[in-house]
Amino acid sequence: MSRFDLDREELALLLEDEPSYRLEQLARGLYRELKEPAEMTTLPAGLRRRLQEESRLSLGLRLVAESAADGGATVKWLFEAGDGARVETVLMAYEKRTTVCVSSQAGCAMGCSFCATGQLGFARHLGRGEIVEQVARAARQAAGSGFARLSNIVFMGMGEPLANYEAVLSAVRMLNGELAIGARSMTISTVGIVPGIRRLAGEGIQVNLAVSLHAANDSLRDRLVPINRRYRLADLMAACHDYCERTGRRISFEWALISGVNDRAGDALELSGLATELGAHVNLIPLNPTPGYGVPGSPPPQVARFARLLQERGVNVTVRETRGRENGAACGQLAAGLGPGRLRQGLAVSPA
Ligand code: SAH
Ligand code: SF4
Repeated sequence: MSRFDLDREELALLLEDEPSYRLEQLARGLYRELKEPAEMTTLPAGLRRRLQEESRLSLGLRLVAESAADGGATVKWLFEAGDGARVETVLMAYEKRTTVCVSSQAGCAMGCSFCATGQLGFARHLGRGEIVEQVARAARQAAGSGFARLSNIVFMGMGEPLANYEAVLSAVRMLNGELAIGARSMTISTVGIVPGIRRLAGEGIQVNLAVSLHAANDSLRDRLVPINRRYRLADLMAACHDYCERTGRRISFEWALISGVNDRAGDALELSGLATELGAHVNLIPLNPTPGYGVPGSPPPQVARFARLLQERGVNVTVRETRGRENGAACGQLAAGLGPGRLRQGLAVSPA
C-alpha cells in the first residue's frame, strides 16, 4: 500500500469540510513534493496533525540501497515493500533529459533465460501506487541533484508490464494527471503479450510501445523467449500492426545481441523484413552478462556489422548506449540484490 494508491476523490474524503483548495495543496505536497503531512506548512496545524496519523498517506516503499555508475549519471535504487517484496528502479541522466526505468513486478514469470529478472522467477505484481512511487521518488531525486527535469519513463525494469495490465495502465494515467508526464514520453516494453497489446491499442492513450523481439523466427524465439510458444510471431506482428494503425505511434523492436545466437547476417535479414513491414525502429542492445546465462553479448564489431546490415535495408537503427553495467543496473541485470532462483525459494518475500 502506498499513498499513490489513493486518488483525488479519496484524498477529498480525508479533508472533510476543509475549503476545496486544500485538495490541490495536499495532492501537491503528497505526490509532487513527497512531503509528510506534518511538513505541509500550507495546511493548518490541526489538519496536519490529523493527516499525519493517516496510515494510508505513507509511502509504500523503503529505500534499501543506492548505487551509482557512469560517474553519477546512472543511479540504481533497491526498494522494499512492507511485505518484503523487492524491486529496483534506475535513473539515467542525459544532457537534456532524465529518464527513469521502473519495475512493474517483483520478479517476472516469463522466464527469458538471458534476463536476470527472469532467472529470479515471479514474486508478485506491484500495485499502481508502488509503480507511481518509483517515478515520484526519481523525479524528486532528479530535481534535487541538478539533473534535467524528469521527462521520460520507460517500463523496462523488473517484470512484464502487460502481465500486470490494470496496475500499469492506472499508473500511466496517474503519472499523466498528477506528475504531468505525457503518455508520449512513456514507453511500455513488452515481451509480446498479444492480448495486452490489443487492449492497449484501444485505450486512447499515446504511450510508446517497445516489443522485445530478439528473434524473427518462431524456432529461435521459442528458445529465447518462452512466451513465444503461446503468442506466435505472426500473431504478435498482427497485433503490432493494429497498434500502429489505431494509435498512430511507431513501434520499436528491442533486440539483445547474443554472440553467435541472433547476431548473424541471416538474423539481420529476417529482422529487417519484419521491421520494414511495420516501419518499426530497431534498438540493438549488446547482451549484458547475468549470472544464469553463459553466452556473451556480441562484440562491438559484430554489433556494428549487424546494425549496418539493417541500415542497408532501410531500417532505422539505434545501438542502445550501455548504462549502469558497473552497478548491475543495465538492461536485464535487475535482480533486487538476489541470485538466480532466489525468489522461488521465498527469500525475497517474507512470510505474512
Ligand atoms: N518484460 C519487459 C520489460 C523489461 S526487460 C520486456 O521483456 O520487454 C527490458 C528490456 O531488457 C527487454 O527488451 C529485455 O529483453 C531486455 N533484456 C533482458 N535481459 C537482457 C540482458 N541480459 N541484456 C540486454 N538486454 C536484456
Ligand atoms: Fe521478464 Fe522481460 Fe526479463 Fe523476459 S526479458 S524475463 S519478460 S523482464
